[in-house]
Amino acid sequence: AADKIDTIVSLSKRRGFVYPCSEIYGGQKAAWDYGPLGVEMKENLKRQWWRYMVTSREDVVGIDSSVILAPDVWVASGHVATFSDPLTECTSCHKRYRADHLEEAYEEKHGKPPVNGLADLNCPNCGNKGTFTEPKQFSGLLSTHLGPTQDSGSVAYLRPETAQGIFTNFGQVLQTSRKKPPFGIAQMGKSFRNEITPGNFIFRTREFEQMEMEFFVKPGEDEEWQQYWMDQRWNWYTDLGMREENMRWFEHPKEKLSHYSKRTADIEYRFRFGGSEWGELEGVANRTDYDLKAHSEASGTDLHYHDQEAQERWTPYVIEPAAGVGRAMLAFLLDAYVEDEAPNAKGVMEKRTVMRLDHRLAPVKAAVLPLSRNAQLSPKAKGLAADLRKNWNIEFDDAGAIGRRYRRQDEIGTPFCVTVDFDTLDDNAVTVRERDTMKQERVSLDQIQAYLGARLLG
Ligand code: ATP
Repeated sequence: AADKIDTIVSLSKRRGFVYPCSEIYGGQKAAWDYGPLGVEMKENLKRQWWRYMVTSREDVVGIDSSVILAPDVWVASGHVATFSDPLTECTSCHKRYRADHLEEAYEEKHGKPPVNGLADLNCPNCGNKGTFTEPKQFSGLLSTHLGPTQDSGSVAYLRPETAQGIFTNFGQVLQTSRKKPPFGIAQMGKSFRNEITPGNFIFRTREFEQMEMEFFVKPGEDEEWQQYWMDQRWNWYTDLGMREENMRWFEHPKEKLSHYSKRTADIEYRFRFGGSEWGELEGVANRTDYDLKAHSEASGTDLHYHDQEAQERWTPYVIEPAAGVGRAMLAFLLDAYVEDEAPNAKGVMEKRTVMRLDHRLAPVKAAVLPLSRNAQLSPKAKGLAADLRKNWNIEFDDAGAIGRRYRRQDEIGTPFCVTVDFDTLDDNAVTVRERDTMKQERVSLDQIQAYLGARLLG
């Protein structure tokens, strides 16, 4: 239920995954900072995406373009003219909303769209009906000024998607990478949107990270490739442990497609926000040849592909899987959060919280725990932790009862706890406890690297 989100928000803050931004100044609305555990998990997630989408494939390469591109890029792409959302305001309580979101929430609840549009809807804040103003288009582009003057000539935009940096570099990558369609160019990085209603924790923020890939194909082969990438992207989430019962496809109705799209299908996750059950996790769009053609025309540089063998020239169609890092992280956290039971020191079953994150995503891979803080055990355990740190992110913790220390690691998803006890001093072995099964195994110190290495993939 909705309170699971609240649980994740408070756990995130308490344990150092995600903090409210600028909290000492009272906070910056709907902005979040990633803490020590959050940054590890976020980097793991991005690494997994990059491996799956780029380095494990021979047909995809990466780039890292600027956040601020030439303003003309955004004129040609259509963003300056059309990247906007319909803004409405409740005339009773003055809360602002995206009109399309209000209508979608109604449709999800009632199974049909509101017959009279906004006039049928109650304000989610004050409950009044029919109090919404006529929607006005509100630009989602965040702009700034470059240089010492602040006039229209110095205006620049913070990118609302990473994709355009890929399109503008298409010709150069084609020349220098020796790839030819079908091939892709991927990019991860920050994007910015002046969202009307940011919120739901890290689901919708004005500053966020995207992981996008533009896959260039021959016109006519686009539909097949879209299906291919839809399957690939679904599998990426499930392979990293996301439960399929919490995922579904949403097919964008034709009349609501973005200006560049022939077909868009979203992977949705059951976020269970108050008000709506499902939320977009990522979109897989067929952007056709819209962007390359628009940039060819506006820039005067023809961004086509010349197939020398077939003696053909064509502008590729583009299939784009576009994911958000924050949304993926939130979905993986929600999906992994489980409450079960574990025996306490007296053997009595107690509630425990465990984050069953895939090992590849877990921020800490193993915790080294001396059984107690002791002049012999602690240095031995510290030495072991230092050794393991050459390969993994390792925590060392010798404060408090061992059971409580296990609980702390379970709660942040650490796959293994390695306990150094008094027997270790004699037998040179440690006890390894696995997070989900809580099974314990004795492993000799000269085998511990190999033991963990075999179990911690990626
Ligand atoms: P929404 O309909 O939720 O506003 P969108 O359809 O505009 O999203 P896309 O333009 O398809 O989103 O962006 C691709 C991905 O980037 C989204 O699936 C999401 O994961 C991520 N994303 C987009 N906007 C935001 C945001 N404001 N905050 C966090 N992530 C975002």
